[in-house]
Amino acid sequence: MIIKSADFICSNTQISRLPIPIKPEFAFIGRSNVGKSSLINMLVQKKGLAKTSQTPGKTQLINHFLVNELWYIVDLPGYGYAKISKSKKEDWNKFIRSYLDKRESLQCVMVLIDSRLEPQKIDLEFCSWLGEKGLPFVLVFTKADKQSSIKTDQNIAKFRKAILATFEEAPQHFVTSSETLLGRDEILAFIDNINR
Ligand code: GDP
Repeated sequence: MIIKSADFICSNTQISRLPIPIKPEFAFIGRSNVGKSSLINMLVQKKGLAKTSQTPGKTQLINHFLVNELWYIVDLPGYGYAKISKSKKEDWNKFIRSYLDKRESLQCVMVLIDSRLEPQKIDLEFCSWLGEKGLPFVLVFTKADKQSSIKTDQNIAKFRKAILATFEEAPQHFVTSSETLLGRDEILAFIDNINR
């Protein structure tokens, strides 16, 4: 897929204000600092479209970016920030889970996982929840340039093994780096294929 345009459309704190659900949406989500904004900017090759290194736990926004005037990248707030209060965590849960559960134009959830880490409980629990709800998702391993490919492969194998405790089959996965553009063509081809 060639990216001809990528534009910020809106930020929302309320489900009722989201754009009309008539264009396919791909939601990007992961723990705070996983590299989500960097990945979004890398995919569309537009620095600063998604804001990197935001203070975690700030206002919870759902950001819509329209790509090629045809489909949306939906930037969801990060989860798993230790210092955020319990009530804010519950707000996050309600807000994001109701978006994911009810959005009819949602095509796939792109779950970002830091490739440098051993499987994290919070990521596995989130994947289980997606599975329970029957929501389609793929895994996107980030920051692969930060270590050897052997280490990345080891962590991916561990994650796949852990996820197979809940799922019959491990979901499709991508290995990415926002620095080297690793995985960009593969993710865009995946999205293109669903949009056809
Ligand atoms: P977000 O909180 O998930 O949106 O994460 P950011 O995109 O703001 O990234 C968090 C930090 O990780 C920043 O300092 C980024 O520069 C860095 N980062 C993100 N992706 C990569 C990557 O693929 N490679 C490297 N080396 N650093 C990355």
